Amino acid sequence: MRGLTISAHGGLDRLELRDDLAVPALGSDTQVRVRIIAAALNHLDLFVVGGLPNVRIVPPWVIGSDATGTIEEVGAAVSGLGVGDRVLVNPGLSDRTCAYCLAGEQPLCARFSILGEHLPGTLTEQIVLPAANVRRVGADTDPAEGAAFTLSTLTAWRMLVTRAQVVPGEHVLIWGIGGGVAQACLQIAKLRGAHVTVTSGNDAKLERAVALGADETINHGGMDVGKEMRARTQKRGVDVVVDTVGEATWAQSLVALGRRGRLVTCGGTSGPMVTTDVRRLFWNQWSILGSTMGNDAEFDAVVEHFRAGRLRPPIDRVYPLDDARAAFERMASGEQFGKLVVRIAS
Ligand SMILES: [Zn+2]
Repeated sequence: MRGLTISAHGGLDRLELRDDLAVPALGSDTQVRVRIIAAALNHLDLFVVGGLPNVRIVPPWVIGSDATGTIEEVGAAVSGLGVGDRVLVNPGLSDRTCAYCLAGEQPLCARFSILGEHLPGTLTEQIVLPAANVRRVGADTDPAEGAAFTLSTLTAWRMLVTRAQVVPGEHVLIWGIGGGVAQACLQIAKLRGAHVTVTSGNDAKLERAVALGADETINHGGMDVGKEMRARTQKRGVDVVVDTVGEATWAQSLVALGRRGRLVTCGGTSGPMVTTDVRRLFWNQWSILGSTMGNDAEFDAVVEHFRAGRLRPPIDRVYPLDDARAAFERMASGEQFGKLVVRIAS
């Protein structure tokens, strides 16, 4: 079986396409085996290649978290899925037995793990995973769109709907609209009836964000986005800020945030250590919200929007598996707008 692997951490030259991987076998009767048609890249993959603290890989380690595929084998205890069904993969696995899981909050599971990071990934021909981690979609689903959808959109849904609870008419500021989670946040915020301002350092990306539904744009190069948002909102500030940048943007995010505002984050690409003035936090009655991945109910919700065509991920380019490293190089360059997808099979 073919797959894109690493056997040591480092730069993208560590990526190795192998053809000697073993086809995985079902490990329990609640699992399914999926033949992967397309897999999509996430920034997480770059972190995995570079090495993450407390995450140990077993070479040859298959990377990748997102995928569309068809069911190849079904465990005896699985119902509602059959061989040949086209499915989307939720890469977040939980033990389904702890108190958080039993309360329906799988991403809080103490044994939560992610395909490609803690478990073998999706940039390969077949994968075994719990049936609870797949959802059936139409046989005519575009495999690239399906692969590009789940991780970003599920993450964004939990951030905006469950955590920040965006309601119609609210003003949402989203940093760095080139990223997959940011683009999914834009689409979901518009679906919720919000007014959305997005930032980028690239005017061409801002134009494309307008086509995706953004109401206002800011080129954040050399700009104090916090002050700009105060000026644009007659000093009121915005209701929700989506900040996945961290150190470089946190202070400006808080300047932009109005009273009763919510700042929601699922990462800090520029660095993890941020400073918050507690006096402004309590006086303005802000909520600082962390979020990661999504639970089963949120997976159901986003897949329903996907099936109905209301949420569709922008795709930058689709690469054959033989050129998968080029997809990683493009992601590392930050030039893409939309998801980078690797086609595994026809
Ligand atoms: Zn659990």
